Amino acid sequence: MDHFGQMMYAPLLLPSLLEQAARHAGRVEIVSRRVEGDIHRYTYADCHRRTMQLANALTAAGIAPGDRIGTLAWNGYRHMEIYYATAGIGAVCHTINPRLFPEQVSYIINHARDRFLCFDATFLPLVAQIAPQCPHVERWILLGDASALPDDFPVPLESYEALLDGQPQSFAWPELDERQAALLCYTSGTTGNPKGVLYSHRSTYLMAYASALPDALDLHAADTVAPVVPMFHVSAWGLPFSAALVGAKLVMPGPRLDGASLTELFTQEGVTVSAGVPTVWLGMVDHMRRSGERCATLARVIVGGAACPPQLAEALGGLGIRAVHAWGMTELSPVGTVCTPSHGYAEKTAEERARIDAKQGRAIPGIDMKLVGAAGEELPWDGRSAGDLMVRGHWVVERYFGAEGSALENGWFATGDVATIDADGYMQITDRSKDVIKSGGEWISSIELENIALSHPEIELAACIAAAHPKWDERPLLIAVRRAGSSLSAKELLDFYAGKVAKWWVPDDVVFVPELPLTATGKLQKLVLRQRFGQHLVR
Ligand code: ADP
Repeated sequence: MDHFGQMMYAPLLLPSLLEQAARHAGRVEIVSRRVEGDIHRYTYADCHRRTMQLANALTAAGIAPGDRIGTLAWNGYRHMEIYYATAGIGAVCHTINPRLFPEQVSYIINHARDRFLCFDATFLPLVAQIAPQCPHVERWILLGDASALPDDFPVPLESYEALLDGQPQSFAWPELDERQAALLCYTSGTTGNPKGVLYSHRSTYLMAYASALPDALDLHAADTVAPVVPMFHVSAWGLPFSAALVGAKLVMPGPRLDGASLTELFTQEGVTVSAGVPTVWLGMVDHMRRSGERCATLARVIVGGAACPPQLAEALGGLGIRAVHAWGMTELSPVGTVCTPSHGYAEKTAEERARIDAKQGRAIPGIDMKLVGAAGEELPWDGRSAGDLMVRGHWVVERYFGAEGSALENGWFATGDVATIDADGYMQITDRSKDVIKSGGEWISSIELENIALSHPEIELAACIAAAHPKWDERPLLIAVRRAGSSLSAKELLDFYAGKVAKWWVPDDVVFVPELPLTATGKLQKLVLRQRFGQHLVR
């Protein structure tokens, strides 16, 4: 007799999540705002049927295990069908960020060797531009029906609905190895060319389980979940999988991500929980304040992708919406930490709680973290020692797509973030390692200085960079955008730091600019700012 337990075994495969939802929450809706302008609604059972039609169509079209299907698409039901059908037949859904430069988009499509490319009508001009540069793409599929196809286009197009038409509504999902690749996502490439991260069924499946937990995204069958975070980057934080796992209603906002459109959709559909980057919530707060509109059902939003400024959490709180801070990255599929209360939280003062809420949170089960100092030594979890954040776990990258060697250092992945961890396990990002400001050998957190600037009522956006300094090597320099009509001076803004940080942390100067450069994922492009203003203090 062998030593195995004698329990049923089935590999952890993604289609089983949809099948589960279709069987046990079959009447629960998936509602999508479409590029066509209307609202589409159907159920998990319908989604499963159409996903099986797509699986049949792709198989008939010769898509084989391991092949890549690219997508340039907003959050919506068709994109969800592609996620599940491609993965289900053993192929790979390669999501592409349409906000990248066209040259990066074609680079990624060629690097991944996508065989088919599925795209929303919004991206017709982009596809027209890049198609001639992507000779390996065999079929360009517009996510719509035949009437949406343009008359004249540089490459032959076909419609997604025609592809599905007439295909059988059942499909026997093959029993793949759970380590089989399922999804491919490239990093934003803020430094050099984007790198691909190839998620497996098992990694994404386990992340869906862990991220649905109460101390993670806290998802329930009775919830209505709206992923604003795009399905074209880091699979919308896994929500198309974790929402199906719990059988929650899904609301997909499509292309309209401004405050007014989101408030309208959320109110109409009774959204209870949503997830997105800080800029999305800034837009919503702004809209609600100006219009007086509220969304009574919206209890919670998960804020991640960039640091959530404390005044944003406060503003959301004032509108009856709790901000939950989370951290992750492409290489983590992406969920790493979520900021939820641990023992002792309830007894703390409001001020202490706000300080905890501003942190990026505790590792969700399945993820381990550590901090490493300059000499490679492990740093204590004292909430003060800042070092390189290293992670390992079931949904952390092992090597980049197409790379020869491992991406790990002694079994750990270096995130490129600098952080502290406190005794309760709350991690706080202080910087990206390449953005750290080193003044006289001491580190200053640019995120903390930015948050203070952002808490000034006349500041709209702020970035703090390391500027060369003759005596201290580097000193913090603030680049800021004033609100319309403000004539705030540099001195007034610098005086605002008094009492909020140690004197030597206060930036040396402020440069006001009309706007700040952002990356394709809406993050500050500090490299560009350093190139422009890095010598500001030595002139
Ligand atoms: P890219 O790395 O390609 O810019 P990602 O979406 O993978 O795109 O970004 C991951 C990075 O975003 C993290 O390494 C971190 O620097 C930053 N980040 C994500 N969430 C947070 C957060 N809550 N607070 C601060 N930084 C964050």
